[in-house]
Amino acid sequence: LLGYIGIDTIIEQMRKKTMKTGFDFNIMVVGQSGLGKSTLVNTLFKCQVSRKASSWNREEKIPKTVEIKAIGHVIEEGGVKMKLTVIDTPGFGDQINNENCWEPIEKYINEQYEKFLKEEVNIARKKRIPDTRIHCCLYFISPTGHSYVSAPPTLGLAPGCVIQAYAGLDDQGSLSARGQNIVMTPVRKELEVNGIEFYPQKEFDEDLEDKTENDKIRQESMPFAVVGSDKEYQVNGKRVLGRKTPWGIIEVENLNHCEFALLRDFVIRTHLQDLKEVTHNIHYETYRAKRLNDNGG
Ligand code: GDP
Ligand code: MG
Repeated sequence: LLGYIGIDTIIEQMRKKTMKTGFDFNIMVVGQSGLGKSTLVNTLFKCQVSRKASSWNREEKIPKTVEIKAIGHVIEEGGVKMKLTVIDTPGFGDQINNENCWEPIEKYINEQYEKFLKEEVNIARKKRIPDTRIHCCLYFISPTGHSYVSAPPTLGLAPGCVIQAYAGLDDQGSLSARGQNIVMTPVRKELEVNGIEFYPQKEFDEDLEDKTENDKIRQESMPFAVVGSDKEYQVNGKRVLGRKTPWGIIEVENLNHCEFALLRDFVIRTHLQDLKEVTHNIHYETYRAKRLNDNGG
């Protein structure tokens, strides 16, 4: 090159646009009542984005059918606005017969694709199509991994990852995330045996850098063994989020205690943009192609 052209300013231009418009992020939580879904999303976004069952009572709170509730929030940090929607699924997996428990969730995910498609094929299109598509589905399983409802087909419909609730304590009450591997191994095996692929899928790694980074997540982190909390405790002179147990305080952000920080970094700090792109380029695209094909006959 003979002189500076200025191609690299694109980054600054994109930054400015994003600062102006903000961005959407739609996250869905799925799993039986009481697994800590609401607590975890509140911990992830450091505010009350999902209503926790105040005095949690299984009998009282369980709806007869799966309800799907979307609640929007605007979170701003460093001048960047995130329009966050948390999609909660109270009642999921709580019925006596859970055979069809995935149906309303699949239906919801597809309805959002349909809405987007309708807007896209309009002659007079909106400048910015409102995006209600699920960018990330967090699927919660119990600490023992035994309360499996059935294989989650939604992981094929939207980018999904698996969260193992209540990590951080083994039966002896020792605080250790590594100890969790004893519990995690059968969970991962079960997912593999059932052919359940979660995000980030191998086939979508674009280069060696992606592969190296994602292999670590696939092999070491998934399912993420996490605890959530909105309570602060004093540990070594510092205030930290944690849960008080008879054996000590489980610190949410301490990787020796649980994998919350890994999950947070993955979903928010390293893969958020990719989650949105995979939603659009892979999952929505599959839906769109199928729909237009069905129509065209
Ligand atoms: P949800 O029904 O899945 O949304 O669960 P909630 O977030 O409402 O939590 C249900 C109960 O479990 C509450 O009493 C929480 O304080 C508790 N809880 C939430 N997260 C954890 C966790 O990581 N570990 C433990 N031991 N309890 C938790
Ligand atoms: Mg909840």
